[in-house]
Amino acid sequence: MTSEIRNSIETDKPREHCAVFGIYGCCNAAQLAYYGLLAQQHRGQEASGVVTSQYDTTENKFRFHTHKDFGLVNDVFRDDSILTKQLVGTSAIGHNRYSTSGASDNRQNIQPFTVNYRNGNIGIAHNGNLTNFRSLRKLLQDEGTIFQTTSDTEIILHLIAKSRETDHIKQIIDALSRVEGAYSLVILTDDSLIAARDPRGWRPLSVGMLDDGYVVASETCAFDIIKASYVCDVKPGEMLVFDRETLKTKEAKSFRIAKETYKPCYCIFEYIYFSRPDSRIFGESVDKVRRELGVALALENPVSSGNSNEEVVVINVPDSSNTATLGFVAGNNNVGNKSKYEIGLIRSHYVGRTFIQPVQDIREIKVRTKFNTVRGVLNGKKIVIIDDSIVRGTTSKQLVNLIWDAGAREIHFRVTSPPIRFPCYYGMDFPDPNELIANRCHGNIEEIRQELGVDSLEYLSLDRLLQSVPHENGESYCTGCFNGAFPTKIDIDVSKDEHEI
Ligand code: SF4
Repeated sequence: MTSEIRNSIETDKPREHCAVFGIYGCCNAAQLAYYGLLAQQHRGQEASGVVTSQYDTTENKFRFHTHKDFGLVNDVFRDDSILTKQLVGTSAIGHNRYSTSGASDNRQNIQPFTVNYRNGNIGIAHNGNLTNFRSLRKLLQDEGTIFQTTSDTEIILHLIAKSRETDHIKQIIDALSRVEGAYSLVILTDDSLIAARDPRGWRPLSVGMLDDGYVVASETCAFDIIKASYVCDVKPGEMLVFDRETLKTKEAKSFRIAKETYKPCYCIFEYIYFSRPDSRIFGESVDKVRRELGVALALENPVSSGNSNEEVVVINVPDSSNTATLGFVAGNNNVGNKSKYEIGLIRSHYVGRTFIQPVQDIREIKVRTKFNTVRGVLNGKKIVIIDDSIVRGTTSKQLVNLIWDAGAREIHFRVTSPPIRFPCYYGMDFPDPNELIANRCHGNIEEIRQELGVDSLEYLSLDRLLQSVPHENGESYCTGCFNGAFPTKIDIDVSKDEHEI
């Protein structure tokens, strides 16, 4: 990977592991998959890959074609002929990957993975983490299974191949009934596309239609770019099969993965930070929910415009808190605090390399290469800065310094999520818990405020956060990284890269 790419992804935010995309029954499937992955670049920036299935009429058999490499989608598919000549076929799956450090340079771990087994070709792409990865891997190794990768996803392929069931659908259900944790999967067989979501539904997975064919993606923004229309979400614990019959009947075959039904455990962080605001996930518009979070934050922790009714200047940390900031301004105005939205921080999308020593200065120059201030907006003003989350706090502190340097009179920091104190075992990469500012400051908000160097600091409470997300259709949410409530037994150690995907 180039240093430019590395720098662009080094950010003091949790990182999503992956995006998946699948397409069935469409000409130019690989080209459409490319656009679907491009739209979901924010979910994984280290590597990308596409696999297509083509029926070879000269040999009367299906062939899989694969291209994957390190880099952003545009870099991996820079050569047009990869998409137009090499990756032929009317069905495809694709994957954007982000991995934890240490295993990131292992080429074998780039997805989709493909194998040829007794029922033909099969390819898989996965978003999420399996929480019984360690025990299943040991079991399979003891039985003589040789692993090609360090990824938990490979386990699913081995379980499929070893299943005693006879047809591939039953084999996949059999395999998935043995894994625990988070998975939103797209699976390509010779003549079908399969989409599956774990019984608690941690990660989103949506289905769309394009002409007479079908598409599946982590986020619906992947449908918009190719003008596909949203049809539904894959339900938690559901497996959908798209095949030639589906094209005729216009109905995918639906199977249940597990007999038991669980309370949904949607990742609430998808609404707070990860998903694009123009996507619809878990049945709701991300933009709408994020605005609600901003309003809720203002109602719970307003910033007073003071006796003189001086206008409070509310700024966003671009780009992830843009929408929430609009909500905060509306909410703060509603409770009688004259507030206006301003763009006080400008984010550069072209981040280069950093050379300056020592380490502290590198951090500062990194922030300065990424953000600059608009002095005229900030100078002499009472500033409210809205962010979606604070992880280590290093970037937040640097941003605060930039805003003081630009002449702000007061700075009030507001965050649209509670303090992050625990790791995530379901597909999000947070730093070691000891590095999280909320833990370093022992959960003491006043201590964090002092470390950031602001006049006031307030987080959205967990109760208020949960009240602000949709519940109309029985939705319930994972909040493990805030309160340590993890609904599954965990046999992986996120600090050791062993869950790497
Ligand atoms: S622990 Fe946090 S980031 Fe992980 S799935 Fe739960 S809410 Fe999402």
